[in-house]
Amino acid sequence: MAQRIGPTAKIWRDGALIDWADATLHVMSHVVHYGSGVFEGMRSYATPTGGAVFRLQDHMRRLKDSARIYQLDMKWSADDLCQATVDTLVANDLAQCYLRPLVIRTGEHMGIYAKDVQVETFIICWEWSEMLGHGAGGGAHACVSTWRRAAPNTFPAMAKASGNYLNAQLGKFESMRNGYDEAIVLDIDGHVAEGTGQNLFLIRDDTLFTSPISAGILHGITRDTIIQLAADNGLKIKEMVIPREMLYLADEAFFCGTAAEVTPVLSIDRFTLGDGKIGRITKMMREQFFAIVTGRAPDKHGWLTHVPVAAGAASR
Ligand code: PMP
Repeated sequence: MAQRIGPTAKIWRDGALIDWADATLHVMSHVVHYGSGVFEGMRSYATPTGGAVFRLQDHMRRLKDSARIYQLDMKWSADDLCQATVDTLVANDLAQCYLRPLVIRTGEHMGIYAKDVQVETFIICWEWSEMLGHGAGGGAHACVSTWRRAAPNTFPAMAKASGNYLNAQLGKFESMRNGYDEAIVLDIDGHVAEGTGQNLFLIRDDTLFTSPISAGILHGITRDTIIQLAADNGLKIKEMVIPREMLYLADEAFFCGTAAEVTPVLSIDRFTLGDGKIGRITKMMREQFFAIVTGRAPDKHGWLTHVPVAAGAASR
C-alpha cells in the first residue's frame, strides 16, 4: 500500500519557508506537460547529537548538474541549497526524514522551447521509512524487467530528471504485477544497469561487482559510499559491464540508494542467491552504512552535515 507523504509544517520555495498546503502550481505549468524538472532524494538521520544529512553537498552538486544538463536556470548555488536544507529541517523540527529538493519549470507555457520560462526550486521533507526491505534484515525478490534503460544519447542518465522515472515506472509496475518487489533493468545492450530507483551490487567470491556509469545508471551517491566502504574494508571491487547471467550466479546481491539504503536482494528471477538470506558482505556493508549515518561510527569521510534539531524529534 502507498505510504502517506507528509504533511509537514513547511516547504522551502525559492528562499521562503511556506506552509505545506501553499506549495501549489498551476496546471498550465510547463513541468506538468513536458516533464521539465530535476530532483534529488536525500536522507537526514537521527544521531546522538541531533539530525545529520547524509552527503548533502554531493546531492546538491548532482542537482546542479542535472539542472545544467536540462538548462533549467537556478538562482541558487549548491552552498545556498545546503543552507536551505538545514533551514527546512529546523523549521519542521525533523531530525530523521527523507528530503526532496526539486527544480521545476513552473511558468505557464505551452511548447517545448521554454528557455526563459520561470524555474522554481523547492525543498520538501517528510518521514519516510525503509523502502524495499520489509523491515531490517528483510530483503527484496527481484526480476529482470522486459523494459530497457534508455539508450545513451537519448535520456541522459547522469541527470536525475523527472522524465527518467517514466521508464522506471514501467519496470516497477511490471515487477509488482508479477509478484516481485523490484525490477533490475538492463541497458540497451542487454547488460545489467540497476534497479528502478537504486543501484545494484553483486558479490561473488568476496568481490563486489557493479555496473559502470556507461550502462545508463544514475551515478548514485550511496553506490559511491559503498565503493568507499568496500575499499576501507580491503574488499575487491570491480566496476564492469555485467552480463545478465551473472545475476543468477552471484553469491549475494544488494540494492543501494538513498531511499533503498542497503537492501539485500534474496532472489532474482526466482533464482535464490546463496542460502536465500542476507549475505555476509551485504550484512557488513549494511551495518557499516547505518553505523555511519546514525553517528554510531566515526564519520571519517566527512559525509554528515549536522543539523541543530533534537535527535528525538520525529525519529523512527
Ligand atoms: N538509480 C536511480 C535510478 C535512482 O533513482 C537512485 C536514487 N536517487 C539511485 C540509483 C541511487 O542514487 P543515490 O544513492 O544517489 O540515492
